[in-house]
Amino acid sequence: MREKKVEQYDVVIIGGGSAGLTAGIYAGRTGLKTLIIEQALVGGLAINMNEIANYPGFPEGITGKGLMDLFYQQAKRFKVNFRLTDVQGVDLEEEIKKIRTYRDTYEAKVVIIASGGRPKVTGAKNEDQYLGKGITFCSVCDAAVNIGKVVVVIGSGDMAIEESLFLTKFADKVVLSATTDCDKIDCSDDLKNLALNNPKIEIRWNTIVNHFEGDTQLKKVVLKNLKTNELDAIGCNTCFEFIGYIPNTDIYKDIIHMTDKGYIITNENMETNIEGVYAIGDIRDKFLRQVVTCASDGAIASVHAEKYLLKNKAFKNKRMKVEKPSITFAYNSIEEDQSQLLEMIEKMELELKGQYFFYIIDIYKAKGLMEKLHIKKIPSVIISKNGTERQITELITEDRIKEIIAKM
Ligand SMILES: Cc1cc2nc3c(=O)[nH]c(=O)nc-3n(C[C@H](O)[C@H](O)[C@H](O)COP(=O)(O)OP(=O)(O)OC[C@H]3O[C@@H](n4cnc5c(N)ncnc54)[C@H](O)[C@@H]3O)c2cc1C
Repeated sequence: MREKKVEQYDVVIIGGGSAGLTAGIYAGRTGLKTLIIEQALVGGLAINMNEIANYPGFPEGITGKGLMDLFYQQAKRFKVNFRLTDVQGVDLEEEIKKIRTYRDTYEAKVVIIASGGRPKVTGAKNEDQYLGKGITFCSVCDAAVNIGKVVVVIGSGDMAIEESLFLTKFADKVVLSATTDCDKIDCSDDLKNLALNNPKIEIRWNTIVNHFEGDTQLKKVVLKNLKTNELDAIGCNTCFEFIGYIPNTDIYKDIIHMTDKGYIITNENMETNIEGVYAIGDIRDKFLRQVVTCASDGAIASVHAEKYLLKNKAFKNKRMKVEKPSITFAYNSIEEDQSQLLEMIEKMELELKGQYFFYIIDIYKAKGLMEKLHIKKIPSVIISKNGTERQITELITEDRIKEIIAKM
């Protein structure tokens, strides 16, 4: 049996959709050794779209595949590596992260999770046949082709109602299939009232999809009443399914912070709760899931990742220098009593300028550094001089620090 290979990268991106490819372009362009791992088709969800009409720069629109091919070529131009395989597990806590696939292991200083998600489907008969041929999951993308037409919406949560209201701006009639009675509908009261009072929306209570009908294109959605078992065939141009979305986050459960629906929580730099791990695109908790916002996420994550890598490298290089001694102060900015110590250290920095390198680390913002620098306790002062190191964790005073550095 072939032995597992181990390859090292600066950045490994999991998922080669629009978000992952953009992150690759930005990381590759700055010279970071970058790998994108994609389990299916490079381009992701977007390659299934006949037309992307709202991505800037293409006034006539472009096919999803056409757009993703351009993203791919650009990533290749910046020497991004690709592996077509499925990431099965990750170890993200250490400074060097491990990404495991069936055949090999990849090590990276930064991991960018760009694994997207998939819309939930009804599972009704003939659904597969009409996906992308009349059945869609995206009203922003497909509303405009329904001017003056009848559309069916499957779902009755907030998203389904919001999208139905949006669709009334285009379609003449929106038939909404809800699995419950009116009093049990699972959307907010405000949205329910807006839907009930909109003359273009007709709600079929207690229904599910029995099957889909058509020729090469969807023509009818056949609903079944759960109380009477009666079938109701609704002729339509498009059926929008809004019954939920499943982020591809199973392998990150209990490692990365997520919402209760499984979307990864990030800050505006796309950082997750683990240092050096970013999440971008549809997989993260955000307001608008579109190619343009995925591209934006990817750019932000890679630029931030580059800064993170530079900071880590510069910090390590400087601190390891022996010619000049250093004083590192590690504290927690949300602990009020520690800000007085910070003032004292800043005063010392001015006084000892030129004799010592001073490093001030807020552990609240950079938790990972605590382990990396072997810091035992917060606050603490670490003095490096003449090849030796002393760590002060108790009685941190100016006099004590000066006394210790004089003896070292
Ligand atoms: C029907 C429909 C129409 C749409 N139309 C438009 C439109 O017109 N305009 C627009 O801007 N947006 C549109 N969108 C939204 C847009 O497609 C998405 O926001 C975008 O494609 C998501 O990109 P992503 O990179 O985050 O995820 P994805 O494109 O889903 O890419 C994630 C990739 O990660 C891979 N992956 C997952 N798990 C693993 C693993 N464990 N190992 C390796 N690889 C993995 C997947 O195979 C996938 O290729 C539409 C969405 C839908 C559903």
